[in-house]
Amino acid sequence: MGLQEYERKRRFAVTPEPPPKVKRSASKQLHFVVQKHRASHLHYDFRLEWDGVLLSWAVPKGPSLDPKVKRLAMAVEDHPLAYASFEGIIPAGEYGGGTVMVWDRGTYVPADPDVGKSVRKGELKFALHGKKLKGSWVLVHTGPPTSRQWLLIKHRDEAAGEGDVTEEQPRSVVSKRLMSEIAFDEGGDVERAASADPSDAIEALLRNPRTRRRKPREKPAVWRSNRGEDKKKVSTRRR
Ligand code: MN
Repeated sequence: MGLQEYERKRRFAVTPEPPPKVKRSASKQLHFVVQKHRASHLHYDFRLEWDGVLLSWAVPKGPSLDPKVKRLAMAVEDHPLAYASFEGIIPAGEYGGGTVMVWDRGTYVPADPDVGKSVRKGELKFALHGKKLKGSWVLVHTGPPTSRQWLLIKHRDEAAGEGDVTEEQPRSVVSKRLMSEIAFDEGGDVERAASADPSDAIEALLRNPRTRRRKPREKPAVWRSNRGEDKKKVSTRRR
């Protein structure tokens, strides 16, 4: 964070135009991504772009469109922005080893343009403009100040619903693949990945394997974290 602030200021010092009067957050589209991740346990990584990183929460059960359902969201370390487009395999033994799917993505608009302040306050309201997730949502911090626990809740609006969106829309928004298909294509653990797919989707695939959408690649998509790089990006603020 400190470095980014420095770079912004430095650029203003060497360019003739005055710095913008509006906050960067108000003038620029912010992106979000939800990555379905079959690591040691299945979870959905909910990530919001802010200040050059992806603020991240691990949601074990995934988002729910039902306003009556509060989904536990554990705050985890910020991730680099480049990670948002990653779909593929994290090798076994690496942090988060397993299969990763881009389950949903799009842009979001925070209710208060100062997302950092909302996070410190422990209440972050925003509207999602994704392919699967839309409308108004809130992340609320819960427990003592040191707790990493938040709740992800859908607000009541036209995008709310009662069905289980994770079961009804299990495929990647970028490749249309199931978890098992991603693992198969990229050289991951297909059986373990398949345990994260709805059983009816797997059964349909087994009945007629030719229906599977192949996405041949020259090189498998494998993410190897640069731990040193990641450490620098870990923020110290409370989340
Ligand atoms: Mn994860």
